[in-house]
Amino acid sequence: RAKSQGTSGYQIFNPDMHARAVALLQLETDLRNAVERQEFRLYYQPIISLATGRIVGFEALIRWQHPQYGLQNPSQFIHAAEEAGLINRICQWVLYTACAQLAQWQRQFPAISPLTMSVNISGKQFSQPQLSQQVQQALQDTELSAECLHLEITEGAIMDGAGAAPDLLWQLRNLGVQLWIDDFGTGYSSLGRLYHFPIHGLKVDRSFVAQIENADNVPLVETILTLARQLELEVTAEGVETATQLTRLRALQSEYAQGYFFSPAVDGEAATALLSQNLQW
Ligand code: C2E
Ligand code: MG
Ligand code: MG
Ligand code: MG
Repeated sequence: RAKSQGTSGYQIFNPDMHARAVALLQLETDLRNAVERQEFRLYYQPIISLATGRIVGFEALIRWQHPQYGLQNPSQFIHAAEEAGLINRICQWVLYTACAQLAQWQRQFPAISPLTMSVNISGKQFSQPQLSQQVQQALQDTELSAECLHLEITEGAIMDGAGAAPDLLWQLRNLGVQLWIDDFGTGYSSLGRLYHFPIHGLKVDRSFVAQIENADNVPLVETILTLARQLELEVTAEGVETATQLTRLRALQSEYAQGYFFSPAVDGEAATALLSQNLQW
């Protein structure tokens, strides 16, 4: 179901094998051009501190402004970009653009600083040894303090990263950036292993957040929060869509939240407007 709604312009999921191969090739060619033609955009979704109700940071989410098919979501092209060997260049662009935007906001809104920026790192990127070099370069070029940059990595990326994962995590951590586990709860990682990595926090997947709409399911998320606290990890609740969810997350003392209830991901200009409004939830 999720598959058939994506990439309709390319008919990647056309059952006809030949049509599918042609479409995939076309997508990869277009992606290659997209890098040069600067068709990628970053959208920003605010992250709210539940203690203060204020915006404390943003998650950068990539979009592709396709010349024919319009704005494309990452589910429609990130996997193809990985397959086409383009993910490194795209990642480098994302890191630099996100850091540059954050540095600009920190200058423009010194009173709400230090604002943070969360950047997603895909599994393929995570297995590249040059990742920490790219991160260091982006921080240096934009004169950003490392602790303001948060990298989101899925449990799967860490566990699949075989031997390289711990080293890479420590390299990144030693640069001073914060490491967050994305979509926490959807993987099948052993907490025993996660515990030994230099992780700063957990982003609890929105499937769990959606469940607390029903009071009977609150203990499930409460368990995750208790665990996080014992491991001295901070928690961001993803995909908050209702006032009920927000109230319950506050009661459970989740540190941060993000979701459509506050704002979807918006372009840089609209995100700047959100900061100017100094909203409080
Ligand atoms: P993610 O990191 O878990 O990002 C959260 C996704 O949930 C985003 O979708 C966001 O728009 C969506 N979302 C946020 N709030 C709500 C809500 O209240 N309800 C619902 N139903 N959805 C919500 P998006 O932007 O389509 O991104 C999807 C995934 O693509 C991301 O999941 C991330 O894994 C990946 N991605 C996004 N940008 C990048 C990037 O720059 N690099 C890499 N490697 N991956 C990226
Ligand atoms: Mg994320
Ligand atoms: Mg997430
Ligand atoms: Mg998610």
